[in-house]
Amino acid sequence: MAADILSAHGLEVILYERKPSLGRKLLMAGRGGLNLTHSEDIDSFIQKYRKRAEILGPVIRAFPPQALREWCEGLGEKTFVGSSGRVFPESFKASPLLRAWIKRLERQGVRFMLGHEWRGWRNNLLVFQTAEGKTEINADAALLALGGASWPRLGSDGMWVDILQKEKIKIAPLQPANCGFFVDWSEIFSKRFSGKPLKTITASFKNNKDSGEIMIAREGIEGGAIYALSSLLREEINASGSAVLYLDLKPGLSLESLADRLKKPRARKSFSNYLRSSTDLSDVAIGLLMESPERTMLAHYAPEKLAALIKNYPLHLRSPFSIERAISTAGGVIFDSVNESLMLLEKPGVFVAGEMLDWDAPTGGYLLQASFATGTRAAHGIIDWLRGEK
Ligand SMILES: Cc1cc2nc3c(=O)[nH]c(=O)nc-3n(C[C@H](O)[C@H](O)[C@H](O)COP(=O)(O)OP(=O)(O)OC[C@H]3O[C@@H](n4cnc5c(N)ncnc54)[C@H](O)[C@@H]3O)c2cc1C
Repeated sequence: MAADILSAHGLEVILYERKPSLGRKLLMAGRGGLNLTHSEDIDSFIQKYRKRAEILGPVIRAFPPQALREWCEGLGEKTFVGSSGRVFPESFKASPLLRAWIKRLERQGVRFMLGHEWRGWRNNLLVFQTAEGKTEINADAALLALGGASWPRLGSDGMWVDILQKEKIKIAPLQPANCGFFVDWSEIFSKRFSGKPLKTITASFKNNKDSGEIMIAREGIEGGAIYALSSLLREEINASGSAVLYLDLKPGLSLESLADRLKKPRARKSFSNYLRSSTDLSDVAIGLLMESPERTMLAHYAPEKLAALIKNYPLHLRSPFSIERAISTAGGVIFDSVNESLMLLEKPGVFVAGEMLDWDAPTGGYLLQASFATGTRAAHGIIDWLRGEK
């Protein structure tokens, strides 16, 4: 994004990338539908950055979702708003957008140095490792946009943390965000249901709710409905060692109507069959109920008590899955280490953007929007810096 703006301003830009091709994470993000941003009003959009809403607010307002949509349309990819308010390119994928983008950068004179891994500085020169050996370059300004540490095989593995810490730049520890969590499933449940979705549920944690789908994993849970709550859950686990997520396994029915259904006589049905026929719960949801420590007692519960368990099922989460399988990264270069233009105070002329910075947000387009907006802010910072230098 910064290369786009800087080259459009006539500056000479070289983009270094350690991988043999560009934008691997962007392409991966596009695999299930590239959710570029969100259409909600700007004030509630900014609140999604929680503790960083105040600091990122002006950055997002300067490059808001509408500007991102126009930028995308400028590359020949119209956007549309999905039923959940999320914004996607019309092709739904990242590849046409990335192709058009790279072509434009080439037209604007940006040079790409692939297979160049940034290793730090030597006497203020930027040092890169290539297959042929080390190379050092002098730049009037540099932007580090090296990503977080999730999905490291796509290129971003957080190796920059050590390099920047040696330069006395403060980094909040990198942690998984938009991630799954370990749950102590029984072997039976894990074998039978891993890889299966728990559909149409509502997950809640401390007055925060999200609806959708949870995927059962062999050793825990992941998926959309918990990603939005994952930062809060991670913070609770960091503070107290575990967290309890409450699931409404039947959000479409009130407690009363569910209890009424459970008043039907069971006749000779097994308890599971009875639950299935009276409440229409899925096999996964019934399996989950059977994971309850009180499973042997459930058949004897009063309808109201059983309905309450179905509407408010406590799921004990042990710890987050590792950062490698998280969608994004929390932590990073703290905002006290950079000025308003995102230039490192300890390294004048060096700017930082994207997931490297210490913010996090739920999925829903907020991750890419902040990455694009911080890239835009840093680019304008670089332009001002170079003008000032001259
Ligand atoms: C599966 C998945 C789905 C996602 N879906 C969405 C979505 O739909 N919507 C959304 O908003 N967000 C989504 N995200 C998150 C989004 O992709 C990231 O937030 C965004 O790509 C971060 O951009 P970035 O430029 O900061 O880092 P990256 O996209 O990670 O780019 C950093 C680049 O720097 C390179 N690099 C790293 N270290 C070095 C080094 N030392 N030397 C040279 N090059 C280096 C990397 O190879 C990489 O190409 C998804 C993420 C994943 C993993």
